[in-house]
Amino acid sequence: MSESTPSIADVAEHADVANDSAATPDLQSHSAASDASVSIAKQSFLGRVAASILGGIPTLIVLAAIGGLAWWGHHHEWSLPKFSDLTGSEKETGVLWCDEHGVAEADCISCNSDLMPKGELFGWCKEHGVHECVLHNPQLSQLSEVPEINQDDLDRASEAIAAYPRTKNDPGCKMHLRRIQFPSIESIDQAGVDIKLVDRGPVVETIKTTGEIVYDPTRVARLSSRSGGTVWKVEKNVGDKVQQGDLLALVDAVEVGRLKSRLLQALAQLELDTKTLERVSRLGGSVIPEKKIQEAEAAKSETEYEVESAVQALSNLGLPIQLDDVKGKAANAVGSKLRFLGLPQSIVDSMKQANESANLIPVLSPRDGIVVSRDAVAGEVIETGKRLFTIADTSQMWLLLNVRLEESERISLGQKVVFTPDGSERETVGTLTWVSTEVDSQTRTIRVRAELTNDNGRLRNETFGAGEIILRDVQEAILVPNEAIHWEGCCHVAFVRDKDYFKDGSYKVFHTRSVRPGAVMGDNTEVIAGLLPGEVVVTKGSGILRAELLKGNLGAG
Ligand SMILES: [Zn+2]
Ligand SMILES: [Zn+2]
Ligand SMILES: [Zn+2]
Repeated sequence: MSESTPSIADVAEHADVANDSAATPDLQSHSAASDASVSIAKQSFLGRVAASILGGIPTLIVLAAIGGLAWWGHHHEWSLPKFSDLTGSEKETGVLWCDEHGVAEADCISCNSDLMPKGELFGWCKEHGVHECVLHNPQLSQLSEVPEINQDDLDRASEAIAAYPRTKNDPGCKMHLRRIQFPSIESIDQAGVDIKLVDRGPVVETIKTTGEIVYDPTRVARLSSRSGGTVWKVEKNVGDKVQQGDLLALVDAVEVGRLKSRLLQALAQLELDTKTLERVSRLGGSVIPEKKIQEAEAAKSETEYEVESAVQALSNLGLPIQLDDVKGKAANAVGSKLRFLGLPQSIVDSMKQANESANLIPVLSPRDGIVVSRDAVAGEVIETGKRLFTIADTSQMWLLLNVRLEESERISLGQKVVFTPDGSERETVGTLTWVSTEVDSQTRTIRVRAELTNDNGRLRNETFGAGEIILRDVQEAILVPNEAIHWEGCCHVAFVRDKDYFKDGSYKVFHTRSVRPGAVMGDNTEVIAGLLPGEVVVTKGSGILRAELLKGNLGAG
């Protein structure tokens, strides 16, 4: 055949090259003589146009296009190309040929059911959602020895089914009963059929979310001034590590001075009241009227109360003072201690020389952590309640994620979460510890929280990024190349090579297998049920098997 008269073989060959197929079948020599190619060849111009248009289109579309072309041709007195034409079968003269199944009539396993009996059928497996389930009936697999299905395989399958809602197969489908027969191994190679071994490999399934890192609020202390005054000194800055009790700042508060002198006055008064009461009590009721004694007792009690309330007021400002510290002590003795109340020794030493204010309140860190904000500025006049510092323990951070409502039922506490900050590739792993019971009415999302350890301090507050909640992370899942699995509108199927394929005199058969696909991992698809490792499936060039599967009477084979 010359180059100027492209045939259907040219079209198919062209398509295979364009499809980057590993196999380059030489269909021309086998199908050139067929009626279809000859009749198309007559329309050499049309054929050439078709060839150039179809050049960049995958084989399947090409096959569909050929079908369309053939239909058009049929109405213009062309004939439809047969399966046998496409597979390049070596039709021998004098042999009765089964045109429907593309093999010699005497060898056709579809027409002669006793040639290759199907064996016992088990029907629909409700648990795994496939027909003729090889997980439950491993003897149905196309392996030379019946494999052992262990509990891990069954557990993996049920976990995969539970983890995510997936497309289901139609229990009423009959496609899995079809077997597709080729006349010879050569004819299969010529048709560009490629195969791969069913294998095992890792599968990870996640829910993708967005979220942000924030401080764990249970590990954050916000310090405000307990009294109005002037910021006298600032000791710590943002980023400084602090320990519980460390001095952060000193506030010069008039209120403190007032309370201290009130306490000292009360203590001095108490000394007087105590002496008075002692004196009148000693003289007794014969000299001093009973009423005077009672008055002295009342005066002392009142002063005691005044001491207590002054101590309490100082304590309320955060100063370390208790009633026992001053009770029964002279004002003079308490005075010098009171002046430097709560101040670290280093500050006290510097102040002794300078004779500074006695009005200072120390602002101390209530916990170990890092100064994450500082609002105190030396010299600033502040009011009560003014925020001075925020101290956070950043060794553990919160990751808040927003999960879409429809995916929320897949998540549970304890699941692993991987967070990647925007603009970074550094992943941080945490564990889901909380799921909100509320739905955000605006975004229809649910808030979940994971705790992230941050020992190296790399995680920062208000970091936005992507969070993946790990639903499944398994190592030994059953995998096939994506192109091995076909959705036929009602169910997923794969074509499994017969286990006796290479045996002398065996029928060259591919079994249509009902499969339940799981996660897609790049170029591979997980098979939850329907295939077992070691089985051989068709990958490239499966279009020809699919075309055969879809034509004719389903279930007849
Ligand atoms: Zn037949
Ligand atoms: Zn099953
Ligand atoms: Zn189906």
